[in-house]
Amino acid sequence: MFIDVHTHLTDKAFDLDRKEVIERSQCVALVNNGYTIKDNRETQALAKQFALVKVALGLHPSETAVLSQKDIDGEIEWIAKQKCVAIGEIGLDFTYEGQEKQVVSFKKLITLALKKEIPMIIHSRKAEKEVLDVLEEMQAKKVILHCFCGKLKLIERAEKLGYTFSIPPIVNHSQQFQDLVKMVSITRLLTETDAPFLSPKKGERNEPVYVEISVKKIAEIKGMDPKEVENSIFANYQRLFS
Ligand SMILES: [Zn+2]
Repeated sequence: MFIDVHTHLTDKAFDLDRKEVIERSQCVALVNNGYTIKDNRETQALAKQFALVKVALGLHPSETAVLSQKDIDGEIEWIAKQKCVAIGEIGLDFTYEGQEKQVVSFKKLITLALKKEIPMIIHSRKAEKEVLDVLEEMQAKKVILHCFCGKLKLIERAEKLGYTFSIPPIVNHSQQFQDLVKMVSITRLLTETDAPFLSPKKGERNEPVYVEISVKKIAEIKGMDPKEVENSIFANYQRLFS
């Protein structure tokens, strides 16, 4: 009953063995996060092929930073008409230029998620505080912070706001994520891979089957049984996505 709320199985890294990767995932839901105009369509096509794959549609901040406002607004209008379980991947990434432009589009995408009453899956590189500021201002509710690397104070603030954190398999060796897991209630945790990125094995491709690594590490940190963690995360997923 594993859950991967943040994956990119449309990536070309899976072109040769996508079916096998999905079949061996041990997951009951693989939320594929569209992040470009092209990837949003590919995400829909993949979900038509595999029942396990769930559709999240969005525009990554690296896209909203460079696309024309017309293209961005056109895509947001298109997403509004589509069926999806979440809006993602969206957020802010201040390693890219166009910060003001990113914020404008981020707000529009949050508004869309609120209107659809579905979760939003948030990327927040070098902009963790700014992401929380915008989400709080917009009174966002069903928020999943993907791979959140904010300081402890920001983690505390996000938990108080009722947000959920999705934990990648790199928790196995990342003190940052181990501290986060220790601090945050099990009711506020989900699992993700960000596959093919963020591999727990250096130089290798990441894939959804590694969700089990996150579950085991969370169990170890929390002093819980892995099965209990698996069930809690499944319950958290159901609560947010239904
Ligand atoms: Zn991602």
